[in-house]
Amino acid sequence: AKKQSDHRFVYYDPNMERATEQRIEMTHALRKAYADEALCVWYQPQIDLANREVIGLEALLRWPQADGSMIGPDVFIPVAEYSGLIIELGEWVLNQACLMLKRLEHAGHRNLRIAVNVSMPQFRQTEFPAQVARHLKYHGVNPQQIELEITESVIMDEPDTVVNVLRKLKTLGVQIALDDFGTGFSSLNYLRQLPLDRIKVDRSFVQALDRPSGAIIAETIVRLGQRLKLHTIAEGIETERQELLMRAMNCAEAQGFLYAKPLPADELMAFLAKCPKP
Ligand code: C2E
Ligand code: CA
Ligand code: CA
Ligand code: CA
Repeated sequence: AKKQSDHRFVYYDPNMERATEQRIEMTHALRKAYADEALCVWYQPQIDLANREVIGLEALLRWPQADGSMIGPDVFIPVAEYSGLIIELGEWVLNQACLMLKRLEHAGHRNLRIAVNVSMPQFRQTEFPAQVARHLKYHGVNPQQIELEITESVIMDEPDTVVNVLRKLKTLGVQIALDDFGTGFSSLNYLRQLPLDRIKVDRSFVQALDRPSGAIIAETIVRLGQRLKLHTIAEGIETERQELLMRAMNCAEAQGFLYAKPLPADELMAFLAKCPKP
């Protein structure tokens, strides 16, 4: 068989070229939206499964379009990561989360944490922990109320870098959550070395709870969390039955459309005003 490199410039693939063009266009548009302050952060509540009290929020980026529609982060985050723009975007989201914590505090919600998603290009910057420290200090935020979410794939990408950076971040007092847990394969070895506070049971397992395989995986992840003395939160709870099943496994926390969709800041404040306070 021929080596890959022999093929590299041989075939002209118009689809590939179009994909590249689209990515470049989207990068420009995203950069402009960011500069115009057109992006926003929505917040999805996370609840205590024992009493359904809101205990935290996940900050999720949104890109509103001129026609009123919304481009989802599943589409533009990969583009932002590829272009490196995620470094600025991610810092902006962290800043927004700190501002939101202050707003919550003024409204009497003093103990909520906000989870912020962090991408690999951010971890690769040596100054990332210092950047986080600077934002915490500037806003006078209690570090415990900020949680950084990192995906399993990021860890497996560059485990040594990530372990080092996470250790530095932990010394600041922030919480660390492992996102989409169970969707990658090889991280069990690293799990012991990572300074984690929480693992998030991926939505795909919650959605498969009615199949034996799904239930077994979800239960195994929750048990693993318990054994490692980590908090576990189930993602993507949409039905009472899923809630019931996760609670029966002793999963302590949940997030999903059953409780609330991601909400714009003002709607979130209204939602919280109607909730029992922890
Ligand atoms: P994620 O971190 O796994 O975030 C959870 C996603 O699940 C969110 O999608 C949320 O809206 C969705 N979700 C929550 N509950 C339910 C449910 O009950 N059912 C269903 N079907 N979906 C539910 P979203 O907001 O579209 O975000 C997609 C992904 O984009 C996120 O997945 C995350 O990987 C990425 N992302 C979003 N904001 C940021 C950000 O600020 N920085 C980075 N690096 N990535 C982000
Ligand atoms: Ca997440
Ligand atoms: Ca997730
Ligand atoms: Ca995901």
